[in-house]
Amino acid sequence: MKYIPVIGLEIHAELLTKSKVFCGCANEFGGEENTRVCPVCSGMPGTLPVVNQGAVELAAKAGFALGCTVNNYSAFDRKNYFYPDLPKAYQITQFQYPICSDGIVRVCGKDIRINRIHIEEDAGKLIHDDAEGISMADYNRCGVPLIEIVTEPDFRCVEEVQAFVEEIARRLKYADVCDARMEQGSLRVDVNISIMPENTKEFGTRAEIKNLNSVRAIGRAIEYEITRQTNILEHGGRVTQETRRFNDRSGETASLRSKEEAHDYRYFPEPDIPPVFISEERLDRIKAEMPEMPNVRFERYTNEYGLLEDEARLIVEDKAFSDFYDETVGIYPAYKETSNLMLVELNRCLNDSNGKMSEIKFTPQMLAELVSMSDKRIVTKNAARDILAIMFETGSNPESIARENNLVMSTDTDELERIVEQVIAQNADGVESYKNGNEKIIGFLMGQIIRILGKSADMKKAKEILLEKIK
Ligand code: ADP
Ligand code: ZN
Ligand code: MG
Repeated sequence: MKYIPVIGLEIHAELLTKSKVFCGCANEFGGEENTRVCPVCSGMPGTLPVVNQGAVELAAKAGFALGCTVNNYSAFDRKNYFYPDLPKAYQITQFQYPICSDGIVRVCGKDIRINRIHIEEDAGKLIHDDAEGISMADYNRCGVPLIEIVTEPDFRCVEEVQAFVEEIARRLKYADVCDARMEQGSLRVDVNISIMPENTKEFGTRAEIKNLNSVRAIGRAIEYEITRQTNILEHGGRVTQETRRFNDRSGETASLRSKEEAHDYRYFPEPDIPPVFISEERLDRIKAEMPEMPNVRFERYTNEYGLLEDEARLIVEDKAFSDFYDETVGIYPAYKETSNLMLVELNRCLNDSNGKMSEIKFTPQMLAELVSMSDKRIVTKNAARDILAIMFETGSNPESIARENNLVMSTDTDELERIVEQVIAQNADGVESYKNGNEKIIGFLMGQIIRILGKSADMKKAKEILLEKIK
């Protein structure tokens, strides 16, 4: 029998606030253990949490970025459980009244529904030392602000899930909500997965795979679960509802706890924090601060600018890169040429030098000038690439680079004619073979001409003259 997987996600994203969500401790990654803790985030009795308004605004931005309704009213609850990484023995989260609800994100030509986004605090980290047989607690991460994004079970294959996680990561980065570094744990994905026989409607029992920290691991964990659950059903068994862990080394998932052993969280309203009320005016202000999202840019690039989907995808991947592109074409609208120069030559320079977009020495204005020089055939396309590489090195303007390096396209037709004649004279065989129908030989003859003229040659003109003369 063929089975269809049904998948829903719970995504935790750490918010890029300066301080933690209920206290003034710094919100940073790494550093010496237990150096960013205070009585509030270490859960001392009698301390009072105060909501970080920056976290509220970033959560609202996440909502706008993912097409959600951002609610005027939301409230915090306590989720009770005991675990050594949680010194208070409860997590402050939003249960009944989340800050955002009902979003939609389109991937792979399909609308994925988001059920809710709520704010909560992160727990600390346990470091297990097997050699010593001990576990150590680092509370630096306690109280780091998180949002949890919960989707409906709308995914039916690995590709949809992976595309969705990548899209979420991109949008959160664009909005400066989260840096989405999965390898550092600032974006973590729980995958809920069940399978159902093809042509049926009723969902099967799901397993939840906790804390996947790469897009690849997500794919592998899903594939493993599909096989595991299919085997169970094929042998007449039943999938049990449980939480599982994925082992990156073996590529397998293993049970952490079953539903019977599941926590009873005994949620109740957090008595120490008043509800969050966000006025319409404040929501409008937050919304106005939102940058254009990458999916909107993608549509603009492919529909209005005529870029290929692959090109557009590469440009929108990084916001700074895409911003630079937008500013450049805003000054001189040569969409394709700018895309080519940036994706090929600029990316090569960035890779070779391990450089960052934020540190680039030239401005979009200067790139626009270069593109216009190439477009107006003041420099050849090849020369434009060389000039860009020099701009990257020195930050000088393209015009003076072209002049200093003899890269301005030669408009001296007399010289062109002379050289074409010279090449024809030296390649009598070639010309003969052209006359006998070998058109490919033109490429060879042009190569000879460029060898003499260099990159500043007006290739188009040279070819015209060549064809004219050997006709
Ligand atoms: P609970 O209230 O038990 O936590 P939720 O309804 O909140 O369950 O769902 C948690 C996650 O599991 C969501 O991402 C949801 O899309 C997903 N999910 C729910 N039912 C299924 C199912 N039968 N198969 C796969 N995923 C599911
Ligand atoms: Zn603190
Ligand atoms: Mg749930």
